[in-house]
Amino acid sequence: MTHKAQAITVAHGDGIGPEIMAASLRILRAAGAQLEIETIEIGESVYRRGVSSGIEASSWDSLRRTGVFYKAPITTPQGGGFKSINVTVRKTLGLYANVRPTVSYHPFVHTRFPGIDVVIVRENEEDLYAGIEHRQTDQVYQCLKLITRPGSEKVIRYAFEYARRNGRKKVTCFTKDNIMKMTDGLFHQIFDEIGAEYPELIREHRIIDIGAAYLADRPNDFDVIVTLNLYGDIISDIAAQVAGSVGLAGSANIGDRIAMFEAIHGSAPDLAGKGIANPSGLLHAGVMMLVHLGQCEVATNVHNALLRTLEDGVHTGDIFTPEQSKSRVTTEEFADAVIARLGQLPQQLTPVHYQPVAAVATSASVRQPAKKEIVGVDVFLQWTGGAPAELAEKLQPTGTPHLPLTMITNRGVKVWPQGFPETFCTDHWRCRFQNGAAVSHADILQLLERVASAGFDFIKTENLCTFDGKPGYSLGQGQ
Ligand code: NAD
Repeated sequence: MTHKAQAITVAHGDGIGPEIMAASLRILRAAGAQLEIETIEIGESVYRRGVSSGIEASSWDSLRRTGVFYKAPITTPQGGGFKSINVTVRKTLGLYANVRPTVSYHPFVHTRFPGIDVVIVRENEEDLYAGIEHRQTDQVYQCLKLITRPGSEKVIRYAFEYARRNGRKKVTCFTKDNIMKMTDGLFHQIFDEIGAEYPELIREHRIIDIGAAYLADRPNDFDVIVTLNLYGDIISDIAAQVAGSVGLAGSANIGDRIAMFEAIHGSAPDLAGKGIANPSGLLHAGVMMLVHLGQCEVATNVHNALLRTLEDGVHTGDIFTPEQSKSRVTTEEFADAVIARLGQLPQQLTPVHYQPVAAVATSASVRQPAKKEIVGVDVFLQWTGGAPAELAEKLQPTGTPHLPLTMITNRGVKVWPQGFPETFCTDHWRCRFQNGAAVSHADILQLLERVASAGFDFIKTENLCTFDGKPGYSLGQGQ
């Protein structure tokens, strides 16, 4: 079937990016992909021009016009002043699900685990990647972890739909909800709610630490995994590496209107300019892009030629082993080898055959907002005056009948009343004012006025609210 050329936006990226993108595009073209390419520049060169976002305004126009982004890895400058372009693109364009399949190619690519076939669906817009960080006191820095009901619903529904449409058997959710009971707890709860609508799929939950350990030790136990942003980032590298190399895995970033396709690995500065990087991860992403575009025959042809190349022992350095490999090739030679095998099927690895699949459309549920009441406030202070009891003694007089001081914690541990002398305290104190009844913003402002007048340096406040009568805040550790 011939296709009309479809417009896509391409960024050649940093480090090994230009080398692997050139190789991948050459293979896609040779296979007959019908692509009309708009090239944009993002990343290091744009940062160097002083654009702290790493992307020019005109590039957004291209992305919104084509709706399909094929992106090579980008180097994120370390330290302050620059935001990660990868995170910016994913969040700005609403690419809520990051789909990362990992397969092992035993016995052709070295792995301890034949038969890995796991798809990690990573939440892509929230969590600690909100990038809201503050230095609050001399000693303490904060990064906000934001988890939302609509964001969690969308990615979890996507994972179940993906599993259903692709004939998968099981969806596993990874969280740390034994510790983060509200944020990770919400994700787990929504997983159970939505999962109940997919009775044909096995549903399981694992705490991320033991889950990651099992993934590294017995990856074949997993099928589809859905998890929060940071955990998903980490475990997808683990899965790819235990399957053979981070250089092999591609990913799709799915939004309602726009999708982005990229390798899971970074710009590998240690290999840049040497022409030896493995283009397979970006090529896999290209295959996922062709399926998304409906060019399934071309996708099938490219993927099978890639499998045949791996099977024939034509390997780049990252997967080369004297036992399994026949020739150690450069990026370009690898591309030549794949092109030479277009039209061929793998002989031992399972050939793929892509069929058009309807796009997954997910939406968050429409819910009545809960009845919200403010019932207290946490006032955070920078203070270095002495022991917790001394702080309590000085702070108590600032309390009001509506908002008396009830608890002080340091790094989340209750240190007053009845703290332990062993607890290490920094200069960052969370002071809870609450008497159990509803209060107003005016009550809080009055309290803050009194705290400031008493000479305290308050950093921020967090309102303590109930939602339909249920507390929307955690207790102090030891409370
Ligand atoms: P990396 O993934 O670039 O490299 C990790 C290791 O894997 C290195 O030893 C590298 O040589 C190897 N490797 C990676 N891709 C390979 C390939 N295709 N072929 C052979 N070997 C490969 O991770 P890093 O070194 O932590 O990060 C480098 C830069 O990339 C950083 O600036 C980081 O912010 C950025 N990064 C970008 C993306 C992205 O654009 N999506 C993702 C991750 C990291």
